[in-house]
Amino acid sequence: MIKKFFKKLFFSSLSLIILNSSLIAISNEYYDTDVIIAGAGLSGLTSAYKLNKKGIKFKIFEISDRVGGRSRTAKYDNGMKVEAGLAEFWESNPAIELIKELNLPTEEGQGFSSCFINNTLYKYTQNSNEEFLKSIFNKNEFNSFLKWDREVKILLEKLKNRKPDKNMMKLKDISFADWVTKKHKLPKKVSEWIRVTIEVEIGTSWENISALDGIDEWHIFNNGGEKEYHIVNGNETLAQELAKRVGLENIYIKHQVVRFKNIKDAVEVEVMNNENFEHKTYRAKYAISTIPLFRLAEVQFEPQLPKKKYDAIKTQSWGSYFTAHVFFAPDTKKYWIDDKGQNILPILSDSPLGVIYSADRKDDKSPYIVNLLITGEYAEKFNYRGLLFDEIRNELNLAFEKIWKGSSKKIIKYEFFRYHPRAIAAWPVGRSRFDELSEDLRKPFGRIYFAGDFTESSHSDGAIRSALRVVNDILKKEKKNEN
Ligand SMILES: Cc1cc2nc3c(=O)[nH]c(=O)nc-3n(C[C@H](O)[C@H](O)[C@H](O)COP(=O)(O)OP(=O)(O)OC[C@H]3O[C@@H](n4cnc5c(N)ncnc54)[C@H](O)[C@@H]3O)c2cc1C
Repeated sequence: MIKKFFKKLFFSSLSLIILNSSLIAISNEYYDTDVIIAGAGLSGLTSAYKLNKKGIKFKIFEISDRVGGRSRTAKYDNGMKVEAGLAEFWESNPAIELIKELNLPTEEGQGFSSCFINNTLYKYTQNSNEEFLKSIFNKNEFNSFLKWDREVKILLEKLKNRKPDKNMMKLKDISFADWVTKKHKLPKKVSEWIRVTIEVEIGTSWENISALDGIDEWHIFNNGGEKEYHIVNGNETLAQELAKRVGLENIYIKHQVVRFKNIKDAVEVEVMNNENFEHKTYRAKYAISTIPLFRLAEVQFEPQLPKKKYDAIKTQSWGSYFTAHVFFAPDTKKYWIDDKGQNILPILSDSPLGVIYSADRKDDKSPYIVNLLITGEYAEKFNYRGLLFDEIRNELNLAFEKIWKGSSKKIIKYEFFRYHPRAIAAWPVGRSRFDELSEDLRKPFGRIYFAGDFTESSHSDGAIRSALRVVNDILKKEKKNEN
């Protein structure tokens, strides 16, 4: 608690010192800095880290009182850390390279999970993903899944340059659900497993996304699947470590970007200090906005954003996430540890529980903290502030009873984490992350560059990839200007 207080004090006094001092690190008299970054989530911090390496100066403005954005690790009294946001990094995520570079220790998972579908629990206790699938499906089901998965592999190969050809582009006009169930006519059990597996990733129904984007998402599970990684001290440490490396003095927390203005040879960014409502305008060569796209409604652009960019934002759709930490009595591990002592978590459930991620505890006497990542319609319902936490608790208790009889009586308490109902990017049928509107959004508007997961994909891979893209674009532009 005291530590927390000092940390807060440190950050707020830091922002005051910086605001009160005249601007440091200016590139030349015309500019206050080279690049202004809006948002200190993974994309803002990665952009800063990459710019820093090239000796380019920057300032980051973050509306909230912490860095990390949707990457957030809860800390409890007994020293336990449990993810409340970003849960895992998939193998192909460029974040993995950053994590290695920063020497952050990780633990590894196999990617596939136990599942609870139509009131049946399929436990992953086998030695490989293939053996696990064979335990769920009969021979015919398994073979039809393999055939489908092989076709997806061919399509994913074609998507490697992230520029689908005309024929593939047609897949944006049907839903992933229809593509799997109507075009491929997969056996019900197989399509249900694909549905439950993909819906966790996109945070919405598979009917709400295009087949093209569903195929792109399936790269995680294709051809035997990717491994997943978790940072030992909590996923939030990636953001914290990046913040340290770029210099805390360059990060202004509790500062809201309210206006971007393209002017001759520069961009002006107006920022409001959320503690004293003081407005200040900074001039930079470039600005990077990592503000989640749906929040751009809170920012003014001068001149106004072009129609195409507005269309790209307005026609995007969204997935929802809600996190619950459930404190179970110390003698409850029998629910998730099977007779042979094997841990069957995580479990993807077709129920209000969403994904039952992990159950961790400090020592034999401490409670287990079970982490639920709730998605889609349940998340939308639970995020609604008209719904009391007591009602959510009752609904989750009932869902626990369905999967593990008697378990709800062992629950000591819940902690809940609400996210904005637009927690995750999804593109509706007719749109895609690869379409012309998305392409256009990835292009700068004057000197303002758009990054953040919402410009690329539904996950932190998109956050990192977008940061690498904008930094690369800025470096290219600078080089061109030099020549
Ligand atoms: C519950 C949950 C679970 C998830 N699980 C996974 C997972 O397992 N694997 C995975 O890869 N991804 C996961 N994600 C997604 C992942 O968290 C995001 O893709 C990633 O954190 C996005 O980073 P970002 O920097 O693009 O955006 P954010 O993290 O949203 O950062 C944007 C920042 O901008 C700030 N901001 C907003 N408006 C302004 C303004 N006007 N001025 C200044 N600052 C502003 C915000 O406060 C925020 O800090 C999950 C997300 C949630 C919510």
